[in-house]
Amino acid sequence: DIKKAGKHAVCFYEPIMNAEAQARLQTETRLRAAIMRQTLTVHYQPQVDVISGHWLGLEALARWTDADLGVVSPDEFIPVAEETGLIMPLGAWVLNEACRQAAAWTLRVPMAVNVSPLQIVHPEFVDIVAQALDRYGMSPQLLKLEVTERLGLHESVLAAESMGRLRSLGVTLSLDDFGAGQSAVASLLELAFQEVKLDRSLLANVTDDPASWQVLGALLALARGLNLSVVMEGVETPLQLHVVRTLGCTVAQGYLTGCPSPPTEMAQLLAFGSATRPAN
Ligand code: C2E
Ligand code: MG
Ligand code: MG
Ligand code: MG
Repeated sequence: DIKKAGKHAVCFYEPIMNAEAQARLQTETRLRAAIMRQTLTVHYQPQVDVISGHWLGLEALARWTDADLGVVSPDEFIPVAEETGLIMPLGAWVLNEACRQAAAWTLRVPMAVNVSPLQIVHPEFVDIVAQALDRYGMSPQLLKLEVTERLGLHESVLAAESMGRLRSLGVTLSLDDFGAGQSAVASLLELAFQEVKLDRSLLANVTDDPASWQVLGALLALARGLNLSVVMEGVETPLQLHVVRTLGCTVAQGYLTGCPSPPTEMAQLLAFGSATRPAN
């Protein structure tokens, strides 16, 4: 009968069909615990002046090591957080931790924090940002929010409104991964971005032949035309840095100019640089 067949079908399907769902559920459960226990960490990567090498900013990048799962990459856990609503507590924690750290370092260059479009459209997000700045006495000019275009960000009235309010607070808004698959020129035109980060995929096929620089050059021209600052991400080789410089892009971020590092290492590097205010 139907009941029997149904039962059998469930037994037959579940282990196969749901292997991925099971893994996701495990990730979700463990991620939730990590957020609640505050066992996530943040690494920091410098954004540098391509001529002088001076640090012009730091990007905060979430890190998670689970006792059983080992190191889980943000490319894996951020989507899970977005699908489960955990992105709000996770995002708030990273934001507060990055602000706390910036204040503790008396950083005088901007701290860039990644935010999901889902955070941007959340009605409480602007308040969460304002509270974090307030809590750590951080100047809004020293906070940058990097948003990756997805889910038709530019079509969202809520996003436009939030971003307008964030701009009014004095926070800088940066469009992340521009030039990668899902980025829309419309977002640059319609939303309150002041900066664009060019996706590292744009450097992948760059050679010493300037003909291979054309797409990069065109996107830089677009950014300049819109009066936006530009950060080139994923600079790994001296040739890539040479190309970026030659095209007149002034800020770079990548393994060549500084890897993401834990706060203890950053603190030592900061002590030798000019990116912090001298102790008074
Ligand atoms: P993203 O914001 O574009 O950050 C840059 C990513 O490229 C980072 O990966 C960084 O470690 C890596 N990277 C830096 N320099 C180089 C390079 O020269 N070559 C290559 N191949 N990679 C480089 P990570 O830390 O694994 O983060 C991946 C993505 O996860 C980030 O991309 C960002 O979209 C997201 N993410 C990370 N932390 C957070 C967070 O706290 N909140 C949110 N919403 N997203 C986050
Ligand atoms: Mg980013
Ligand atoms: Mg990026
Ligand atoms: Mg990225």
